[in-house]
Amino acid sequence: MFVGHYGLGLAGKKLSPQVSLGTWFMAVQFLDLLWPIFLLLGWEHVRIVPGLMKLSALDLYDYPISHSLVGALAWSFLFATAYQVLGRRATTFRTRRRAAILLGLGVFSHWILDVLVHRPDVPILPHGPYIGLGLWNVPPWSCPSNPASTSSASSSTCDPPAPGTASVVGASMSSSPRSPPSGSWERSARRRHLIRDRWRGEPCRCG
Ligand SMILES: [Zn+2]
Repeated sequence: MFVGHYGLGLAGKKLSPQVSLGTWFMAVQFLDLLWPIFLLLGWEHVRIVPGLMKLSALDLYDYPISHSLVGALAWSFLFATAYQVLGRRATTFRTRRRAAILLGLGVFSHWILDVLVHRPDVPILPHGPYIGLGLWNVPPWSCPSNPASTSSASSSTCDPPAPGTASVVGASMSSSPRSPPSGSWERSARRRHLIRDRWRGEPCRCG
């Protein structure tokens, strides 16, 4: 996901060449730069749970200031305002305002990308509800969507996700990241397989 964040930073640099690449990288990672500070201050919390997700063992159960939707909007506004006030004086007010807006969007893009990859632990308001599509759990797509490639691969990869994992199909939402509804995720994954196979007119191989 760092690639995604920094990729947007590179894209932003292209859109506003007068802003330094360092500023752009700072913008797209701003929420993650704040996060360890708030951890050290004891304002936010994390714990390590081995095997929690395929690509991350961090249980981010409490990061309302740096990573809630309202927090991200506030930090985006503050970052944009700071650039508008402190940004390079050599540029015109209008150019600086455009760059400030783009940088604000860059800060907010971090929250969007985090929602894509995190399990449902990203808060909307500081203490929930929580959302997350869980892409960190699904490096390979569980069943190929191209019927031409379903022969042997599908039967070996068509198993529902392990308990406690989320699938990319359909956003997951929970009232609390502390108690992921693993059973319901598994059931909903089986249901999706069933619906997909019916849609294709194939018997479900996923039971
Ligand atoms: Zn983050």
